[in-house]
Amino acid sequence: MKVLKLTLNKFNFRLLLCFFASLLLCFSVSLLLCFSRQGRGSLASLRERSGPKAAASPFETVIKPEVASLGDTVSVKIRKLPEEKNPPKIFFEKTKVPVFSLSENWYRTLLPISADYQPGIYPIEIFYKGHGEKIDLTIKDTKYPLQDLTLPKKVSELKASKIEKNLVARALNTYSTEKLWSGKFIFPSSGSLSTAYGVKRRVNGIINPGYFHKGLDFAAASGSSIKAPENGKVVLAGLVSKGFVVNGNCIFIDHGHGVISGYLHLSSVLVKEGDFVKKGQLIGKVGSTGIASGPHLHWGIYVLGRTVEPMVWTKTLIE
Ligand SMILES: [Zn+2]
Repeated sequence: MKVLKLTLNKFNFRLLLCFFASLLLCFSVSLLLCFSRQGRGSLASLRERSGPKAAASPFETVIKPEVASLGDTVSVKIRKLPEEKNPPKIFFEKTKVPVFSLSENWYRTLLPISADYQPGIYPIEIFYKGHGEKIDLTIKDTKYPLQDLTLPKKVSELKASKIEKNLVARALNTYSTEKLWSGKFIFPSSGSLSTAYGVKRRVNGIINPGYFHKGLDFAAASGSSIKAPENGKVVLAGLVSKGFVVNGNCIFIDHGHGVISGYLHLSSVLVKEGDFVKKGQLIGKVGSTGIASGPHLHWGIYVLGRTVEPMVWTKTLIE
C-alpha cells in the first residue's frame, strides 16, 4: 500500500510539473506571437481591412476595380470627414502618391497598373484622421502578344535627345489639381487599330526584354485628323525641328489629377502649349515623324507618369 501511495505521489508531482511546464510554454508562445506582430514594421497602428472581424473604419474607402488587371487605372476614393481638415495620405508600393479633391464629399487618387507590373498582391496604405488602414490590391496577369517589326537600321537606332527626354518627362509628371475630363474618352483617330497596348516587340529580329508598347496605334492616312479625346490643357507641343527625334511631332495634354495623354508621329501640330482643348477638337494630323514604320497615330495615356491601357478609359467612365 505504502509503495503504491509513494508511486502515486511521484506520479502526481510529475503531472503537476508537466502542467506548469505546458502553462509556461503557452505563455511564452503567446508572448512571442504578440511581440512578433508588434514588430512587423513601423505601421503598428495600421489595421488590415481583410478578415471578417475587421473593426469599423472611421472613414469610407471605395476601390475600383477591386481586382486589377495589367493596364488598369485603379481609383481609390476616400469619403471626406467634415471634422478633419487634413487630406488623407496614401502610399502605394511604399511611395506617397498625390491625393486630389474629387468633389465636396470625396478625395481620390488614381493608381497606374502599367503592363510591366509583376502580378501579385500590392498593399495600398491609407492614413487619415490618425487612423491607418492597409488594403491589399490583387493584380492579375495579362498575356501580351509578341509583334515582329522591321525598321530601317537608321530609324531603329534613333535615340531620344536630351531635350526630348526632359520635356516629355516634365509633361508626364504634371499633377494639376483641377480635373478637366468628365466622361469616357473618345478615340482620337478614326483609323483602324494596328497595335494594342502592352504588346512586346521584336524589332529587326531582336527582342528587347524590357520593352512593351505604351499606347494604342491607329493606322491612318497621313494628314488625317487627330481629335482631343477629352477636355484638357496642352502641356507640350514638340517638334522634330526642336529635337523630338523619337516621338516626332507630338502633343501632350494634361487632363488634371495626374492624367496626361500623348499623341506621337504627327505630320502637323495644330495647338500650342497652354491651349485649352475641348473633347472632339482637331489638334493635329497623322504622320510618320520620329520612329515610325509608316503613317500612324500613337496614342498613350499616362497616370502619375506611368503608362496605362487607353482602351480602359474609352470603355469605362473613370470618375
Ligand atoms: Zn505606338
